[in-house]
Amino acid sequence: MIYDLIIVGLGPAGVGAAIYAKRSGLNVLCLEAEAPGGLLNKINTVDNYLGFPHTTGPELAVQLFQQITKLEIPYKIKKVTEIEAGEIKKVHCDDEVFEAKYIIVASGRKARKLGLKNEANLVNKGISYCAICDAALYKGKDVAVVGGGNSAIEEAIYIAKLVNKVYLIHRRDEFRADEKLVNDLKALPNVEILYNSNVTELIGEDKLEGIIVNGDKKLDVACLFTYVGYEPEGDFLSELGITDEKGYIIVDENYQSKADGIYAAGDAILKKVYQIVTAASEGAVAALEVVRRVKNNK
Ligand code: NAP
Repeated sequence: MIYDLIIVGLGPAGVGAAIYAKRSGLNVLCLEAEAPGGLLNKINTVDNYLGFPHTTGPELAVQLFQQITKLEIPYKIKKVTEIEAGEIKKVHCDDEVFEAKYIIVASGRKARKLGLKNEANLVNKGISYCAICDAALYKGKDVAVVGGGNSAIEEAIYIAKLVNKVYLIHRRDEFRADEKLVNDLKALPNVEILYNSNVTELIGEDKLEGIIVNGDKKLDVACLFTYVGYEPEGDFLSELGITDEKGYIIVDENYQSKADGIYAAGDAILKKVYQIVTAASEGAVAALEVVRRVKNNK
């Protein structure tokens, strides 16, 4: 079968696109590598999305998924490994190839690593990129959070409610996070902020036993939560030549990449604002552009 539209990724951008495409009568298929909701599944609090004064990432992910199932939008849990351009695009997964006239890439971003020795081996053994998944495992213990953006501060506030003490390690003396979040963090009695500080070493072979900061200061922490930004997920796009040097997809005002009929939305694209609300809206706009082209048959 040749679909009108294949959407890669079911985070807010992919779901936004899927809702508009399906309601406009397109024959659409969604492909998601992990769980519907994307990064929402790893975010603790969400209090800046319309209609949800206070919710959690996983709760919002469930709502999005319910909208997908209620609209009977077809989806498969499959990891896309390659997309081939052309009038009919081929979307390769490990064990299956799907075809479509149009594609919307909404594959989002993944957590950036610190790049320290033994970091990969210690994931889930004291290195975490997901507070909502792992913080409860460190009840009563001392932990560290690294980063100075909204993610690091928001997640440090959440973690501080569960553990004994949080060291917030930031490489500069100014945060890029929203002022309100920073003030909320500073008001917590069990948070110590280390400015102008970098994690330089991870101690422990099979389990994190501590960290070294700025080359000589040892902190006995049971976990290091790393929130130093994100990078695009799109290894599968390398053959298409539609990304910048960092892997972000470059799109025009209709969210089309330079490959005709291949659109992109959400955290996967190069843009200024990376928010749930912008991702959802970009998905909707991209889908409506595809609807227009399908209806006009061009
Ligand atoms: P971010 O804004 O890119 O911040 C990354 C932080 O990590 C920065 O403070 C950066 O330091 C630091 N950093 C980067 N590489 C580092 C390294 N190798 N070692 C130590 N520190 C390093 O990332 P984010 O906080 O994940 O946010 C991503 C986007 O999502 C942003 O647009 C953010 O506003 C948005 N977001 C919004 C909300 C919300 O609205 N509530 C919540 C979460 C995320 P420097 O400051 O020195 O560069």
